[in-house]
Amino acid sequence: MSLAFPRVSPAQFHCKEKRMMAEVNASPLKHFVTAKKKINGIFEQLGAYIRESASFLEDAHRNEDLDPVTTEEQVQEVRGFLSKVAGIGEVLARRHMKVVFFGRTSNGKSTVINAMLCDKVLPSGIGHTTNCFLRVEGTDGGEGFLLTEGSEEKKSIKTVNQLAHALHQDQDLDAGSLVCVMWPKVKCALLRDDLVLVDSPGIDVTTELDSWIDKFCLDADVFVLVANSESTLMQTEKSFFHKVNERLSSPNIFILNNRWDASASEPEYMEEVRRQHMDRCSNFLVEELGVVDRAQASDRIFFVSAKEVLQARVQRAQGMPEAGGALAEGFQARMFEFQNFERRFEECISQSAVKTKFEQHTVRAKQISEALRRIMDSVHVAAQEQRAYCLETKEDRQDRLEFIDKQLDLLTMDCKTKIKKITEEVERQVSNAMAEEIRKLHVLVDDFHMDFHPSAVVLKVYKNELHRHIEEGLGKNMSERCSSSISGALQATQADMIEGLKPLLPSSLRDQVDKMVPRQCFSLTYDLACDKLCSDFQEDIGFHFSLGWTMLVNRFLGPKNTRRALMGYSDQVPRPMALTPVSTSMPPFPQSAMTQEELMVSMVTGLASLTSRTSMGVIVVGGVIWKAVGWRLIALSFGLYGLLYVYERLTWTTRAKERAFKRQFVDYASEKLQLIVSYTGSNCSHQVQQELAGVFAQLCQQVDVTRQNLEDEIQDMNGKIELLDNLQSRAKLLRNKAGWLDSELNMFTQQYLQHSK
Ligand code: GDP
Repeated sequence: MSLAFPRVSPAQFHCKEKRMMAEVNASPLKHFVTAKKKINGIFEQLGAYIRESASFLEDAHRNEDLDPVTTEEQVQEVRGFLSKVAGIGEVLARRHMKVVFFGRTSNGKSTVINAMLCDKVLPSGIGHTTNCFLRVEGTDGGEGFLLTEGSEEKKSIKTVNQLAHALHQDQDLDAGSLVCVMWPKVKCALLRDDLVLVDSPGIDVTTELDSWIDKFCLDADVFVLVANSESTLMQTEKSFFHKVNERLSSPNIFILNNRWDASASEPEYMEEVRRQHMDRCSNFLVEELGVVDRAQASDRIFFVSAKEVLQARVQRAQGMPEAGGALAEGFQARMFEFQNFERRFEECISQSAVKTKFEQHTVRAKQISEALRRIMDSVHVAAQEQRAYCLETKEDRQDRLEFIDKQLDLLTMDCKTKIKKITEEVERQVSNAMAEEIRKLHVLVDDFHMDFHPSAVVLKVYKNELHRHIEEGLGKNMSERCSSSISGALQATQADMIEGLKPLLPSSLRDQVDKMVPRQCFSLTYDLACDKLCSDFQEDIGFHFSLGWTMLVNRFLGPKNTRRALMGYSDQVPRPMALTPVSTSMPPFPQSAMTQEELMVSMVTGLASLTSRTSMGVIVVGGVIWKAVGWRLIALSFGLYGLLYVYERLTWTTRAKERAFKRQFVDYASEKLQLIVSYTGSNCSHQVQQELAGVFAQLCQQVDVTRQNLEDEIQDMNGKIELLDNLQSRAKLLRNKAGWLDSELNMFTQQYLQHSK
């Protein structure tokens, strides 16, 4: 008897089996498990990332302080991603590897499944009692149960017999329906690794292969054809896989030539039989189906005895020696081959499942993260552009503010100089005009016409009216002299100021600035206060004979000394001054510092002069005449003197008194007005200064409004820049996160998808 594998002792076998089991424990199925964990983790992070991005975009979209940096479409797109990724996450969490076993009835499908599960989970040997599919899946609970299609009811099963009984009892099960056998994961390592095993009714007993494929095979990762090594592959088996191959591209198919233990009874033919089976099966997979190439075919075709393996494993689980200590011929080789099948199968199913179950979603996740990266990029760019604009605007406003401040300083100095110049000019003009008017005061007084009467009451009214007349007249004349030139200069200065300040205002305001500065028609008020100025005026309208003693003395001594000489007292007390605003600045009246001696000298000199000129002349002439004509002439002289007196007395009418009054008033008022010339000048220049300063202040106020607006704008820009900085850094962070997720997905692809089949 030639054996394919060397015989080993039971002790050696145990060691080998243990090592194998350890390897199985680090089984290739873990590849799927870790890939699933990894991709689920990535999708969780992607979900959290999309949630963060969505709320960021919504906030940015809602922010009305800024120009839009994102669009409604982008917000909607990201919201769409959120539900999509949540859906994918759920699907991924439920993902598992699925293997479906096909073959004719009694080829040992259930036995193979049980051998793989190391336990009698499915009933065997009784033929498939129903035409239903049995799906074995792990459950976290400690007890197994049955779930039938269309029912939520969990039917408890503890043993395989109970299951067989339950399946037999359930009359409601349709042909081709699905029964889920939920088996505790704790009892079976394979089920812990997300593997789902599906047992099918024998393909020889159905005509509904197409609907089976649609219902149970489209999401299958691996198909295992359990053939009977005691016969050749049947056409029914082949045609089923042809159909599968038509529906799925390159399905993973394993062929188990079961019941290989039977070949041990005819060892002389065993090698030949094996070669024949191998050739036929290889031809079927490589040439007929084209699902593998010839080199790989040997890794897909195995010669096993499921019954032996199951038996050995069950016994070992129960702590008994496999095969009850009596090992059949070639058992270890068949066991080894079964394990080899398991390993190849696990490698194949995990790699294939990772690819089919995760690749598409990985690609989708990459597309989503790429789309989000693009969106964050666009937000970043939009925020950056807006920030640059804000910064530019801010700098522009700051420059403008600086310019305004500098210009305003220069203009203020310039205006001060101009105002000083114009006020000096006004003062000069007004003073000149007033001096001129004082010289012509007599004309103004002569123009005054009112009934004059020497009585005190009439005189009082007369004086009041005269004051008013002088006040008005002087005011009028002064304005005629000065107004046009002053207001011209004033307007020119104002226009200069406006022109100077215009460039400091925003262009929209420049044309309106003339209207903005309200300018009343400016006219100077002279405020001479004639009534107060001349309140002390004392007229002298009593009759004075021109050849009378008083008049003669007056003529020779002057009016002041006459009074003293005649009254015999010295007037040392200065006369009270007029109550005018300038009274303090008025120079004191020239005080009489003349002494009595000086007065006497003056009188003697006057008399001497009189003697020498008139009286002596008269006496001499009188003496000569006396001698010549005698008393007649003297009488005639006295007569003439008397006549003259009478004449003068008669001509001293009211009109003459008025003339004298006016003459005295002119002298008095001129003297008084002279005193307030400089005051009036400076008063007028002050008015002009006030007017111009007022206009300048109003213009400055407009500039201040402009300044304030600029400062507000700068403040606004600072706020926006801060917001945009924040927005930019968050967009950048989110963009980087998308990049990080993309690299995670790339790593996943590299690690789990690229090297798999
Ligand atoms: P299924 O109908 O394809 O599920 O086949 P079963 O698993 O129910 O097996 C049918 C019968 O074949 C049972 O009595 C098993 O004990 C037996 N059987 C299964 N596998 C083997 C094997 O490898 N060798 C032998 N000798 N019998 C087997």
